[in-house]
Amino acid sequence: MQLRLDKSETLFNRAQQTIPGGVNSPVRAFKGVGGTPPFITKGRGPYIFDADGNRYVDFVGSWGPLILGHAHPEIVAAIQKIAQQGTSFGAPTALEIGLAEMIVDRVPSAEMVRLVNSGTEATMSAVRLARGVTGRDKIIKFDGCYHGHSDSFLIAAGSGALTLGEPNSPGVTKGTAADTLLAQFNDIETVQALFEKNPGQIACVVVEPVNGNTGCIPPQDDFLQHLRKLCSEKGALLVLDEVMTGFRVTRGGANELYGVDADLLTFGKVIGGGMPIGAFGGKREFMEQVSPSGPVYQAGTLSGNPVAVTAGIETLKRLDKLAYEKLESLSKHWATGLQKIIDKNGYPLTQHRVGSMFTLFFSENAIRNTLDVAKCDIEKFNRWFNGMLEEGVYLAPSQYEAGFMSLAHTIEILDETLAKAEAVLGEVF
Ligand SMILES: *Cc1c(COP(=O)(O)O)cnc(C)c1O
Repeated sequence: MQLRLDKSETLFNRAQQTIPGGVNSPVRAFKGVGGTPPFITKGRGPYIFDADGNRYVDFVGSWGPLILGHAHPEIVAAIQKIAQQGTSFGAPTALEIGLAEMIVDRVPSAEMVRLVNSGTEATMSAVRLARGVTGRDKIIKFDGCYHGHSDSFLIAAGSGALTLGEPNSPGVTKGTAADTLLAQFNDIETVQALFEKNPGQIACVVVEPVNGNTGCIPPQDDFLQHLRKLCSEKGALLVLDEVMTGFRVTRGGANELYGVDADLLTFGKVIGGGMPIGAFGGKREFMEQVSPSGPVYQAGTLSGNPVAVTAGIETLKRLDKLAYEKLESLSKHWATGLQKIIDKNGYPLTQHRVGSMFTLFFSENAIRNTLDVAKCDIEKFNRWFNGMLEEGVYLAPSQYEAGFMSLAHTIEILDETLAKAEAVLGEVF
């Protein structure tokens, strides 16, 4: 079967005249895997459709937000209804309290939250707050962790940068870069060493509790507990970036799953149900330092707008115990089926899964951090990706990205997809 992407190709060419690289976020351009990115016209449940009429089973879900699947009828109806009352006021609304209360109710570590418009804004603001309350300048982040595109974080910044082979970005000043110290995920000694070299200077450690922007890599050997302990000893704040994991890996997120108490947390993706949103929150003593109750400035014209907030509330409402059980059983079905294929054929592949986040690594070695992912067979990954795309399966277009299950996927769809996966892997190896 040859996938026809004529219309997408025309659109891609046209887009490149007015939009840098033809896309509004780099990984969408498929630079890592080659070929034309399908231009999407609509989504329905587990499927997306492109301009040429091709249908794909979607395991990207807009990079995580669409945990209920595409165009969930009740979410769409709620958005339509609220939009008729006005889309933004730049003034407080009762809806915002509702979403804040839902987040605080679910997330053990969060006592207060501030709503923003993206994950980038959330992490950027959390770091400003950590610097503000500690009076320290430096931060520790991990090689391969992505925290959005603000300057402090564009140092070895995970998926997008890793896929394009651009670990650091021009335009970030030397001063900013010097304040971001780099450690290795799942290697506590690299963190210890940085604390020792920079005594009294570290404002916070920022980490993806599951490193989902290097493919899905879970924390190992009590890594998060060790981070918690180190931060407490050294007077630094622990910032868990749960933009991807929040309300996805469990009802309360990764801080709940791994039992780690964060000082600050950041959210995005799922809490907007597909609309632009973000949030940062955490301990009351720190959050009260945010303006206007405290001196650390943070603001946003469209922050807490009724449309995004409604999509978020309606999404979270549907994520009850039963929903997480279903998500787990679907994800488990997929991973178990794939593992059977791997074992039967002795393929040199390694799978990681945390709840409904998963990655198939083209390596038989243990994957603990980005150093291990760098050794994966990218050429084979690309053939796998393109083979699956031809079969109507839309996977993340990079070895450095996680896949996502939604509640709209079904066992039947997964079984069909597994049969395709077996055929494609047979061609790759
Ligand atoms: C997606 C993501 C971000 C950035 O969120 P945007 O809404 O794209 O700005 C930050 N941190 C993590 C862990 C993410 O996965």
